Amino acid sequence: MAYRTDLEARLAKKTTKAIVDYDMIQDGDRIMVGLSGGKDSWALMQTLDVLQKRSPVKFTLVAVNVDSGYKEYKHDLLAKTCAARGWEYRSEHTNIGILIEDILDVDQTPCSLCARLRRGVLYRVAKEIGATKIALGHHADDFIETLLLNVFFAGALKAMPPKLVSDDKKHVVIRPLVYVGEDEARQFCKESELPIIGCCCPACGDLGLQRQRIKRLIMDLEIEHPGVKNSMLKALSNVAPRHLLDTRLNPPAELRARVAETLPA
Ligand code: SF4
Repeated sequence: MAYRTDLEARLAKKTTKAIVDYDMIQDGDRIMVGLSGGKDSWALMQTLDVLQKRSPVKFTLVAVNVDSGYKEYKHDLLAKTCAARGWEYRSEHTNIGILIEDILDVDQTPCSLCARLRRGVLYRVAKEIGATKIALGHHADDFIETLLLNVFFAGALKAMPPKLVSDDKKHVVIRPLVYVGEDEARQFCKESELPIIGCCCPACGDLGLQRQRIKRLIMDLEIEHPGVKNSMLKALSNVAPRHLLDTRLNPPAELRARVAETLPA
């Protein structure tokens, strides 16, 4: 079966590579796709749908939307679009929006609390519907932005895991778009005629000052030195632990032993 377009072929290839590299999908998996209605989650759903139809590994998909409870949110459009494409869909209504307003002060950024609450709902729904994996739409730009955010503002050298087993070992979260760029996800969503639906929360579109700055920094660097983004992504899978300062990776006793081995007796 031929791909509809070059972009579809490119996304299918990159996503297949991620699935293979990180052993994301097994025969018989029921994959729950976190579908917000934003470009990334639509691109993920559409890409997995394309792969499902060609893959020798048999898996099923179900799109799940965690609705934060905003009145203006276009539930109907989400449900209608999934139905038109024959995608199994479930919407989970919550009052996360009100809860966040109650808990946080006006000057606090709500996104990390929101993400934690939504994750909890996704875990519960995954159990209810018998999903074996939870797929999220984070793409390559999310990975490298998170890396720099952690380096610059949290004093940690880490991005996010492409595949994560939850602390209680009951859930597996996968991020199959790890090699797909944000621009590609946006174009694919447009090309596939999927309607981008805003989450309607007051913080929607507000990335937070630090993430905005990091985005701008990466964008400027990419203009000056095309390929910087690819290099950063590659760096995440090309770590040289001995060239870092973390004594958990390089215990001083082992270092001493290594030095002793190199010295003449
Ligand atoms: S923008 Fe709104 S809905 Fe999206 S993560 Fe932040 S708080 Fe949650």
